[in-house]
Amino acid sequence: MTIDTKKLLEIDRNTVFHASTHLKQYAHGEIGGRIITGAEGIRIKDSEGVELVDAFAGLYCVNIGYGRTEMAEAIYEQAKKLAYYHTYVGHTNEALIELSERIIKMAPAGMSKVYYGMSGSDANETQLKLVWYYNNARGLPQKKKVISRDRGYHGSSIASGSMTGLPLFHAHFDLPLERIKHTIAPVYYRREDDNMSELEFSRYCAAKLEEMILAEGPDTVAAMIGEPVLGTGGIVPPPEGYWAEIRKVLDKYDILLIADEVVCGFGRLGSEFGSIYYDMKPDLITVAKGLTSAYQPLSGVIVGEKVWTVLEQGTDQWGAIGHGYTYSGHPIGAASALCNLDIIARENLVGNARDTGAYLQQRMQETFANHPLVGDSRGVGLLHALEFSSNKTKREHFDPNLKVGPQISAACLEQGLIARAMPHGDILGFAPPLVVTRNEVDDIVERTLRAVNKVT
Ligand code: PLP
Repeated sequence: MTIDTKKLLEIDRNTVFHASTHLKQYAHGEIGGRIITGAEGIRIKDSEGVELVDAFAGLYCVNIGYGRTEMAEAIYEQAKKLAYYHTYVGHTNEALIELSERIIKMAPAGMSKVYYGMSGSDANETQLKLVWYYNNARGLPQKKKVISRDRGYHGSSIASGSMTGLPLFHAHFDLPLERIKHTIAPVYYRREDDNMSELEFSRYCAAKLEEMILAEGPDTVAAMIGEPVLGTGGIVPPPEGYWAEIRKVLDKYDILLIADEVVCGFGRLGSEFGSIYYDMKPDLITVAKGLTSAYQPLSGVIVGEKVWTVLEQGTDQWGAIGHGYTYSGHPIGAASALCNLDIIARENLVGNARDTGAYLQQRMQETFANHPLVGDSRGVGLLHALEFSSNKTKREHFDPNLKVGPQISAACLEQGLIARAMPHGDILGFAPPLVVTRNEVDDIVERTLRAVNKVT
């Protein structure tokens, strides 16, 4: 069956409110649309027959790659058996029980329970509520502020959007909420003092955090949230020793650490969790994307023993916890997560993320480190970023009006490649599915090089 692309896109422009889109330009046809009709492995296909290599796994989520019949079957089987029942007041389902046991086994030591949602944003809303409830239950009602980081990304709902540290997500929405503060992002490439080592820079970031805690009053600060590797803010692995230095400061002031593992969780760094890779020792963990490889919407808040004990005490005082979603612990979500984790284990995709990830880092480095337009080529596992600079030695930014990042991303599309222009700065992001092969990495690097050279 052929699709009338033009007609369908016209209906789309008249009826669909698209995420992260210039609404007027799209509605008036000034920016194009694309109808995705199918996908296989690391490639997607549109209604005009154009095939694109997806080097960003959708939104860094389709970790097992597209078109897995096994996933479709797992979803179908679960839907036939039990499509839905809620998880209020102890109701549960077999898929959920098996999944939860498995997540706790995989997670860093000390994790106790999993609360389920549908998206990374709602999971981070849950995190904030749990942190507030935790301190109310401890008799510390003034200890409520949460420190996030500039350039952090934690979602786009009210609290998660507040924790996000990108101006685009605050402006004109009256965010951030007052209780959310932002400390500096650990971007070594952007350090002011050239002579600082990575470790010194990490200590500087920790000192800045401590300064903020003292200025706010340590008895008012409840938690810090951070992605193991800054993601949407520019794909920035932490400098050496960063998380250990941060954890020391948090421990000193009785402040919880939430690891937002929505991108890093389930293998992307070549380790089950980013917090294991960087030994973050979090109290709470957020997961989503890679949990189901986006075959179903499912997220989770993994609660550590220390927090859990207090939550239980809270319910002793106040009765059942007033937090619940209709779709929490959805059986079809749970069944797809189980199948996804089976595939990851059977095909050793965490190992592939480590090995092919190392190859990706090497190929990107050798191709772009000396390129005149590339200021920084950085990454870890199957996450990589190219940051463009108008003056490499001085690390100068291009004039933002030139939109160099989006231009290069568009040039990649012309080469049949999806590499994402990150919303902050002139940064091109790569996060291919964890099934990517070395040959495919070579192909991605070569297409990128052609695109970069076209723009320059
Ligand atoms: N946290 C991180 C680290 C993310 O990268 C994202 C999305 O990209 C989110 C949270 C929000 O997830 P969602 O878009 O599913 O709400």
